[in-house]
Amino acid sequence: MEDLTVSIKNLRQKYREIFKTSAEELEKRVNDIKPEGVGDIFDAYPIGSPGRLWQDSVLKMFDEDICREIFRKWNEILAYRKEFSCNGCGTCCRLACSEFSPEELKIKAEHGDNFANQFLSVFIPYESKEQAKQVYPEYIEMLEKNKEDKVYFYHCPKLNDCNRCTDYDNRPQICRDFPDNPLAFLPKSCGFEQWKQEIEPVALMLHSMLEIIEYYKNHIPVRTL
Ligand code: SF4
Ligand code: SF4
Repeated sequence: MEDLTVSIKNLRQKYREIFKTSAEELEKRVNDIKPEGVGDIFDAYPIGSPGRLWQDSVLKMFDEDICREIFRKWNEILAYRKEFSCNGCGTCCRLACSEFSPEELKIKAEHGDNFANQFLSVFIPYESKEQAKQVYPEYIEMLEKNKEDKVYFYHCPKLNDCNRCTDYDNRPQICRDFPDNPLAFLPKSCGFEQWKQEIEPVALMLHSMLEIIEYYKNHIPVRTL
């Protein structure tokens, strides 16, 4: 039996290592444009001072240079997905997980959340976790072992016993796009698993960079003086 707990543990370890490398790389980019005699990037500087101009340049570099490059690479990853295809295992139709309950999704949909709206147009909740467990026991057990936050399990009644979608032409965009997140969990039976394996290191690196940039943006005190 597949041990997903070990896989998730390894993935987290891999992410920590990649995160450290990304943090060092970004720190180097920040310091490469640092003026002489200026302190830390997170210090507060007066408007017009070299320190403040440096902070402005760093934020500009993040937005206009690094984030654009991340976005370009992310699109390349998604374009490469077209080299792979669904093998009709049906797992993603039989088991969809959400951190939101049906009621919460309904509220989100009513407030214009397109994903929630599409999700509710096809998926209905399992009556019990035991039913969901029959589809992919290893996955549910991994969630239990990791004591993940509340997870709700859903399935689509439009899938027939031969793993075929009975409303294929009208399936919503979320079905057509799946899987559109290389960091989301995929069952081993999925035809896109190889795609995920191949692009995972790059996807982790891009994700870590975005996380670190977000930290810089939230902690550079450009509005304090
Ligand atoms: S609508 Fe079709 S493709 Fe989408 S989840 Fe249901 S069975 Fe699967
Ligand atoms: S899990 Fe992957 S291979 Fe299986 S039905 Fe979904 S997209 Fe297709």
